[in-house]
Amino acid sequence: MNAKKVVIVGGGIAGMVAATLLAEQGFKVELYELANELGGKAKSLRTKDGNPIEHSHRVYSKDYKTLLPILAKIPDGNHYVIDNLITPKKAIISNTKGEIFINLKFRQRKQLNSLEQFLFCIFQPIVNGIKILLIMFLFPYKMKRIGIPIRESIWCLLKHIQFLMMCEERQQKLFSGQSYGEFLCIENKSDNFKQFISTYISVLVAARLETEAIGCARLFSNSMLTMRGVIKGLEHLGGIMIMNGPTSERLFNPWQKYLIHLGVNIHLGVSLNSIETEKNLIKSFTFSDGTKATSDHYICAVPLVVLTDLVNKCSLANIDLSLINVNEPKMEWSNSAQFFLSALPNNNATSFEPGVLNLHINSPWDIVSIVQGKGIWNNVEMPPDMPYVLSATFSNVHSHGVVFNKPLIACSETEIFEELLTQMGFVDRDLVMSWHLDYELIIMEDSEYQQKKDNLRSHLASDVYDGKRMLTYAPLGLMRPNQKPLKTVSKISNLYLAGEHIDTQYRIPTMEKAAESGRRAAMEVANQVNPSIAEAIKLQDRDFIKPFSFVQNLDNLVYQWQFR
Ligand SMILES: Cc1cc2nc3c(=O)[nH]c(=O)nc-3n(C[C@H](O)[C@H](O)[C@H](O)COP(=O)(O)OP(=O)(O)OC[C@H]3O[C@@H](n4cnc5c(N)ncnc54)[C@H](O)[C@@H]3O)c2cc1C
Repeated sequence: MNAKKVVIVGGGIAGMVAATLLAEQGFKVELYELANELGGKAKSLRTKDGNPIEHSHRVYSKDYKTLLPILAKIPDGNHYVIDNLITPKKAIISNTKGEIFINLKFRQRKQLNSLEQFLFCIFQPIVNGIKILLIMFLFPYKMKRIGIPIRESIWCLLKHIQFLMMCEERQQKLFSGQSYGEFLCIENKSDNFKQFISTYISVLVAARLETEAIGCARLFSNSMLTMRGVIKGLEHLGGIMIMNGPTSERLFNPWQKYLIHLGVNIHLGVSLNSIETEKNLIKSFTFSDGTKATSDHYICAVPLVVLTDLVNKCSLANIDLSLINVNEPKMEWSNSAQFFLSALPNNNATSFEPGVLNLHINSPWDIVSIVQGKGIWNNVEMPPDMPYVLSATFSNVHSHGVVFNKPLIACSETEIFEELLTQMGFVDRDLVMSWHLDYELIIMEDSEYQQKKDNLRSHLASDVYDGKRMLTYAPLGLMRPNQKPLKTVSKISNLYLAGEHIDTQYRIPTMEKAAESGRRAAMEVANQVNPSIAEAIKLQDRDFIKPFSFVQNLDNLVYQWQFR
């Protein structure tokens, strides 16, 4: 048994993955988290009355190669956490009038036996090929309904297919200096195309046309050209999935139990306040309760805004912060509001059904919504008079709304709720029994802000509107073209970094990016101790059928030959 000690700060997905993988290998792990529960930005919440809500919609993609296999080994009663994932009924793209342009139905998959797996292996590439042809045919036709010329839709699809056929090195060489707007030659396209693309990537994960091209192109291709079956043994999972209950109940509570079972010491409600160094090494971490934690290795899995503040405060000149100092990532807002409903609306019941993901494509605040609660959450106690909760996530706080003609950051809470409902085309206001705005979003008088700002948690603040500011404690960092992302390994040899801002093959901040950064940090730690332990943490090459992998591998050979 290896008893090397590791201190991990930050109990979001990145920190939890690192803790799990290291504890499984016999490390003695101490996990410190600021909040009173684990999960970070992905945890679900409770209103003041104790009613369950999600932080927002929470979508898992079938290609989450690091996260899903971990969920497959966390027990939850008589099954595993992965069994709590279900396929949403459908995804809809609609406008502010509630009119639906695209309606994608999803099927719940069944587990495959070995014979079916074998047949799947042979026939799935053919099925995927046919699917792509179908999409090529249907996508331009559907886009025409929102005024996008057919040639632009076909061009857009071909551009992404061409991108998918390139190996990663070539993608990097050709597009790393480009924004997504440049990649799509957006200047020469129709206004409708511009609007569709910019809202689509923003609705998915707060990305913008100015965000770097590679991440956005991967995001768009993954969502539009989504194919079945990526992870071996998990082929039954749908292209996209949601939890059958609030994330904390279905994922983080069982995960916390699993960590305790592995021997991880979890310290909740404590904040990392300072980092002490000695001779280019970390000597200790000091927490808000006065604890001084010393260890062989330290993993910092806190958000980028927190890391930046810590580094500045503790003058850790040895951490490579080229990202932060030279080429700051664009911090974007993505938050949510929850509306408790007494019943489902009748008039536009198709777009506000439980388990239907609704991308409100021309909403100025780039909204995506989903109805949760009764009908989609299993065995979750909802208040009898309001069994449904409509969760609306917005990712554009700067555009002017349609009701008050103000950006979200200039609105009061009531104005935000009114705007959101209007922009979603939700007309039955009498069904809305109560609402709740994200705890991570705070509206504050500027005078109060000026007094308190140095003592507030790390945050992103808006400009002043009518003497007030809005603050978010959970911004997402999106890379700009040519940006060098932070690495897991810092220049201090016993300090490792993890979190959604760390470089992995996923460029856009998601739960998978966070999980993969946690796995990489764990592997670095293990590597220092014993490379054979690191081998056990290595990502198994689980790619089963990746529709473009054959062509990508071929292109990789050509690329190596071209630039050898
Ligand atoms: C509204 C919204 C919707 C999203 N939807 C999706 C989705 O559908 N699918 C998807 O894949 N991804 C989604 N994401 C992205 C995903 O949730 C995040 O990328 C991921 O959860 C980040 O995990 P993390 O561990 O890197 O960071 P975090 O979750 O931010 O975890 C960091 C942890 O560090 C703790 N911490 C901070 N400061 C300190 C301190 N000083 N001391 C101790 N602890 C500290 C925090 O409390 C937190 O728990 C969404 C994000 C948002 C904001």
